[in-house]
Amino acid sequence: MSNAKVRVRFAPSPTGPLHMGGVRTALYNYLFAKQQGGDFILRIEDTDQTRFVAGAEDYIIESLKWCGIQPDEGQGFGGDLGPYRQSERKHLYRKYADDLIENGYAYYAFDTAEDLDRVRQMAKDAGSPNWQYNHVTRNSMKNSLNLSQSEVQKRLDAGEPYVIRIKLNRNEEVKFEDIVRGWVSVNTNNMDDKVLFKSDGMPTYHLANIVDDHLMKITHVIRGEEWLPSAPLHVLLYRYLGWEDKMPQFAHLPLLLKPDGNGKLSKRDGDRLGFPVFPLEWNNPETGDVFSGYRENGYFPEAFVNMLAFLGWNPGTEQEIFSLEQLTEAFSLQKVNKAGARYDHDKTRWFNQQYLRSKTDQELGTLFKDLLSDKGLNVSQEKAEAIAALMKERAYFIMDLYKESSFFFERPSTYDEKTTRKKWNEDAKNHVVQLKGIFSQIDEFKATKIDEAFKSYLNDNELGFGKVGPGFRLAVTGKGMGPSMFEICAILGKDETIARIDLALEKLP
Ligand code: GLU
Repeated sequence: MSNAKVRVRFAPSPTGPLHMGGVRTALYNYLFAKQQGGDFILRIEDTDQTRFVAGAEDYIIESLKWCGIQPDEGQGFGGDLGPYRQSERKHLYRKYADDLIENGYAYYAFDTAEDLDRVRQMAKDAGSPNWQYNHVTRNSMKNSLNLSQSEVQKRLDAGEPYVIRIKLNRNEEVKFEDIVRGWVSVNTNNMDDKVLFKSDGMPTYHLANIVDDHLMKITHVIRGEEWLPSAPLHVLLYRYLGWEDKMPQFAHLPLLLKPDGNGKLSKRDGDRLGFPVFPLEWNNPETGDVFSGYRENGYFPEAFVNMLAFLGWNPGTEQEIFSLEQLTEAFSLQKVNKAGARYDHDKTRWFNQQYLRSKTDQELGTLFKDLLSDKGLNVSQEKAEAIAALMKERAYFIMDLYKESSFFFERPSTYDEKTTRKKWNEDAKNHVVQLKGIFSQIDEFKATKIDEAFKSYLNDNELGFGKVGPGFRLAVTGKGMGPSMFEICAILGKDETIARIDLALEKLP
C-alpha cells in the first residue's frame, strides 16, 4: 500500500447544501493529496434516494470550485474510474453482497418494518431501549441463518422483499490505527448486523462506500468524526471481501463546534448564530427558505479556506496567513487535533480583513468598481482605486468600502447631529467660507496642495486643527469622522468640494 499513488476522495451525500465542516473535510483531502502528489476525487454518495435533494450536487461542485479546491477526478470532473455518482453504479454492488453471502459473511433477512418495530417495542417494554439486530437477536428473526434453505429459496422466488445484512462474529475485537486518533478498538458485541443491501435494490452507504473506495483505488479515507463508529464495520468489510491488504488508512477529523464550544455546529444552525454555516447561499427548493453563504456575505474564498484550514489543524508556528499553495506544503494529517474545533466568527472576519489588506490598490479598485456598478454607480477605475486605498484600513469586506464612503457618490442630505451641535457655530462657518476662497485658488487640486493650504490657513490665524477640521469635514461629507479630508477633497475635485461647502452653508443652522 505504501508505494501506491495517494488517492483520496471526498464523498458527500447530496442531501442538502454542503456545510462548512464538509468543505473542511474536502480541503484536508485536497491538501493531503496535493502534498503527496496524489489525486483528489469527488464521489457523490446518493444511495439513499429518500434523502435526495435537487440542486445539492451542483451546489457541492460550485462550492468546491469557489474555494479553489478542484478535484482531479470525479463527478463533474471526468476520470477513468467512474461513474462517480453511486446511483449510476447501482449494477456494480450486488455481486459483492452475493460474495459475502456465499462466504458466510452476510445473510438474507426478511423481517418487515412492522416485525422490527414490534421487537424493538418489546425490548423497550422489557427495559432495553437499544435493541440491535445482532448475534443474539438474529436467532429469533426471519433470516437465512434460521430459516431452512428451501424456505429461503421459496421466499426469494416469490419475490418477497429482503435486505442483506452483515454477519458479525460474537465477541471479536476489531482494531485499526487511525492517523488522527491512534489505535481504535471496538468489540463486535457492541455492534449490530448492519444492512448492506436494501430491498429497493440499492446498496447502503456502508457497502457502496467500501466497494467504491476499493474500485477507485483509494489509499486514505479522510472524513469527519461522525463516521468513526462506522469504521470498524468498514474494516470488517475489507476483510470479508478479501481486500484487507489494500485497506485504506483512516483519518477521522475532529468535529466543528459552535462558538461556545457546546455541541456540534450543524446544518440546522443556519444563520441562527449570526453567521453562515454554508459556503454559498442556499435556497431550499422545497421550503423556499434561504440560508446565507460566505460568498454572498463578501468573504474572499482564500480567507474562508485559510480560516477552515485552522479549524482542527495548525502549523505549530506563529504564521496564520497561508495561501492554498502554502497550506499544501505545511499541512500534515499528523498535526490534526483530536479535540473538536471551535468556530470563531471574529477570527473569520479577521482573516477576511487580512486578505483585503494584502490586496493591491489596483485589485481593490477593480473589486470596488464592480460592486459600485452593481449598485448602478459608474466611476472610473482611477476614482475607485483612490477611494478603496483611502478606505481600506477600516474595511473587513469590499462592501465596507462602500458603506463608509457613500458620501463620495452623493452630496450630504443630512449632517451628523452631534458634530453639528458641538462644532458648527459662527466661527466654524466663517472658517469654512475662508477655506472655500483659499481652495478656489489652488490650481492643482491634489491632497498635498490642499493640505498645505489648509495648514497655512491654521498657521496664519493661529488656530488649532480642532477649531476648523471637524466643521470642514461636516460641511463636505456630512460626517463627524473619516479618513484624511485632503484626500477626500482631492477625490471629489475642486468644484464639488466648493459646491458642498455652499450647500452646507445653506442647509446647516
Ligand atoms: N457519504 C458520506 C457523507 O455524506 C461519506 C462518509 C465517508 O467519507 O466515508 O459524509
